[in-house]
Amino acid sequence: MLDIILSNQREYFNSGVTLDLDFRREQLIKLKEIIERNEEEILDALKFDLHKSHEEGYMTEVGFVLGEIEHTIKNLEKYAMPKKVKTPKAYFGAKSYILPEPYGVALIISPWNYPVQLLISPLIGAMAAGNCAILKPSELSPNTSKVMANLINKNFNNRYVYAIEGDAKVAQQLLKQRFDYIFYTGGTNVGKIVMQAAAENLTPVTLELGGKSPCIVDKDINIEYAAKRIAWGKFLNAGQTCVAPDYLLVDREVKSQLVESIKKTLIQFYGNDPIDSTDYCRIINHRHFDRLALLLQDGNIVAGGRLNREKLYISPTIIDDISLDDPVMQDEIFGPILPVIEYTGLNQAIDMVNSREKPLALYFFSKDKEKQRFVLEHTSSGGVCINDTIIHMTTKWLPFGGVGMSGVGKYHGKASFDIFSNMKSVLKNHYVFDIAQKYPPYKTPIYKLRRLMKFL
Ligand code: NAD
Repeated sequence: MLDIILSNQREYFNSGVTLDLDFRREQLIKLKEIIERNEEEILDALKFDLHKSHEEGYMTEVGFVLGEIEHTIKNLEKYAMPKKVKTPKAYFGAKSYILPEPYGVALIISPWNYPVQLLISPLIGAMAAGNCAILKPSELSPNTSKVMANLINKNFNNRYVYAIEGDAKVAQQLLKQRFDYIFYTGGTNVGKIVMQAAAENLTPVTLELGGKSPCIVDKDINIEYAAKRIAWGKFLNAGQTCVAPDYLLVDREVKSQLVESIKKTLIQFYGNDPIDSTDYCRIINHRHFDRLALLLQDGNIVAGGRLNREKLYISPTIIDDISLDDPVMQDEIFGPILPVIEYTGLNQAIDMVNSREKPLALYFFSKDKEKQRFVLEHTSSGGVCINDTIIHMTTKWLPFGGVGMSGVGKYHGKASFDIFSNMKSVLKNHYVFDIAQKYPPYKTPIYKLRRLMKFL
């Protein structure tokens, strides 16, 4: 069955239909209309899966992808245009350019935490670049995955775009097939499995992974704004966000003030008992709930810490007196738990960050430009956001992705078009004259070649 779908898509791709820019534009418009027409159903599904409010669902998923589609449609022609580049003087009269061409059939595997955004956003890039695509949404967000798969399969020619629901076994079956591009979003361990499978056919990959994204807070800040921005980024989607600030490294001079301010903010955001808030999400399933509950055993809980397993609810939690050896500081938390560690000098904070794998995001709060420059120069991460959280990944002009263990490749906006395109280098020569020196038998002495090579 999978091989038939794939060979149908390959045949469709080879027919050249997807090369036409008008076709790509029409299909992107169709995608946008489908999402707009079914917005309510999609938002309801997100509510079922994650208790995501319609407002948060619109802001971080539906509205996000609609904006990406519009931006891509507007810029499609520009993205797809061949880009003229210089040609060495030695080839005078020839022309050179870079011609983006689609890879063919792409596989897109997505996770459960933003099950609309992380399925559709890569698809936009794949379609814009002229590929066919097979989508594998996550089984852990079954309502949203079903709605999205139905919408895709009902409205698109399945020889062009097709969604296959299923669990890890289905994903592994898919990975046994030969694709022309694989785009995976999810955990690092599975990312390695995906890369190994891709290596079999040397298939290019984008791996959008996770990790522990640090949030360093200097003393030179606006406490109220910093607290709000940190609390929003951390507790959005109940902390189940790949770029959520995983832990706080805060200058000891402002630690207690900051923690108090975050606590106050949490009451403003979600009320005295967040279980009653329509704006606060739930943990995706019991496995993740139990994993997170175990992380509450160390340190000193200064806010939250309330659990309701039946409702998959963990209140927004702040834990103080945490050391780097505690279990909560080992793997990505991916839940509403914020450990706080204090530092006494910026170097100490940077050393802590650099003793770990390179994160997907790094946050630094400080008004001090010199310190901002210092942090940028002395740390490595997929992206950086200064004096805020998360918003760097919401702009269409900044490529988004990780580095090292947090991922391979970057997308969003033009970067999405580029990763799904083979940037074909073309040099077009003429018949006006020929350069005799390059042909054997070689008669040109090296001292002359040395001069000639300068024109390359
Ligand atoms: P998940 O369990 O939904 O898995 C992701 C996808 O991989 C699913 O479609 C699943 O079916 C498939 N899968 C699972 N096991 C597999 C296997 N053995 N072989 C092949 N496919 C398999 O999601 P998850 O892994 O729990 O996602 C959470 C992680 O994803 C976190 O680490 C988070 O940071 C990361 N993440 C990264 C980004 C990003 O953009 N960089 C976005 C969201 C999540």
